[in-house]
Amino acid sequence: MTPLGRIIARQIGARGPIGVADYMALCLGHPAHGYYTTRDPLGAAGDFTTAPEISQMFGEMVGLWLRAVWEAMGAPTLRLVELGPGRGTLMQDARRAMGRLAEAETWLVETSPRLRAEQARRLPAARWAERLDQVPEGPALIVANEFLDALPVRQFLATPEGWRERQVGLAGGRLIWGLSGVLPGHEPAAPGAWREEAPAARAVAGEIARRIAAHGGAALMIDYGYRAAERPPGWTLQALRRHAAADPLDAPGEADLTWLVDFDALAADLAPLGCRTTTQGAFLGRMGIGQRAAALARARPDRADTLADALERLTGPEAMGTLFKVLAALPVGAPTPPGFAEDA
Ligand code: SAH
Repeated sequence: MTPLGRIIARQIGARGPIGVADYMALCLGHPAHGYYTTRDPLGAAGDFTTAPEISQMFGEMVGLWLRAVWEAMGAPTLRLVELGPGRGTLMQDARRAMGRLAEAETWLVETSPRLRAEQARRLPAARWAERLDQVPEGPALIVANEFLDALPVRQFLATPEGWRERQVGLAGGRLIWGLSGVLPGHEPAAPGAWREEAPAARAVAGEIARRIAAHGGAALMIDYGYRAAERPPGWTLQALRRHAAADPLDAPGEADLTWLVDFDALAADLAPLGCRTTTQGAFLGRMGIGQRAAALARARPDRADTLADALERLTGPEAMGTLFKVLAALPVGAPTPPGFAEDA
């Protein structure tokens, strides 16, 4: 077992099973052994790759979007905020496409000291906060890529006796899955029905909505996730270690844990803002990634194959193009932002 696994096992041995959200919070954020505390998972020897790490074009399209939304607002003074910026690559690339918006005060919401150091190398003028509610009040453009899916998720299952919560327990010195007792006060459902709820993600959505409704601005949230019509057949928590799927209980603190964001639930949590959702492929296509790839390939013919490969990974339906969704949240009545269809 990993060092963190032993700590968690001891805690469960002393106090009983813990919910999946508490387990996930320990695995990712434990102050000494948490996955994000101890490493840069996006680095060369990392466990996964994200869109901004695949190609500069991703951040550039986000930068164009931010600039267009800002100009449509009349180019006011505001703050740029990124949640969970990883290595700072997205914002670094976005800045090149932002024009004068690049001069805006930039705040990075990040808990990992390791990743803050990476971000500081690429964005030396940025300011940092642990949580969104520590960023000064005022109009803001808020961006998050693969942030919500790193926040702890609770999982529930309907059984013949009623709803139960999925837990992590201990048997023979090993971590095992289990279920809580029946939870009172929940609407009954057909056995086998499942639910996931991420209280921290809902709180962030609520804080984004409150700020933008009060002061103006917009948010762009990108993540691996689904709409109601494509709801997965079961719980979506997954572990990724060295680019391969793993059991979330296998190596606590040494694998990335994520879940799939329910974008319709996210839009509801962002009320009273107006939300539009589309796929990453459609968003990037409408923002002009095809033309950008062609221009870059003309400037660097030796890189044409690499660029074509990156374009396919970011937009292809078999790659990230359909599985990843992009949600824009703006004050009610704001015009449809670029990148989204009128009826999205
Ligand atoms: N957006 C980046 C990184 C995604 S990984 C990219 O696309 O490459 C998730 C990021 O969220 C990491 O930077 C991680 O350290 C950060 N993070 C995870 N939990 C967090 C929390 N509770 N508060 C702030 N940042 C968090």
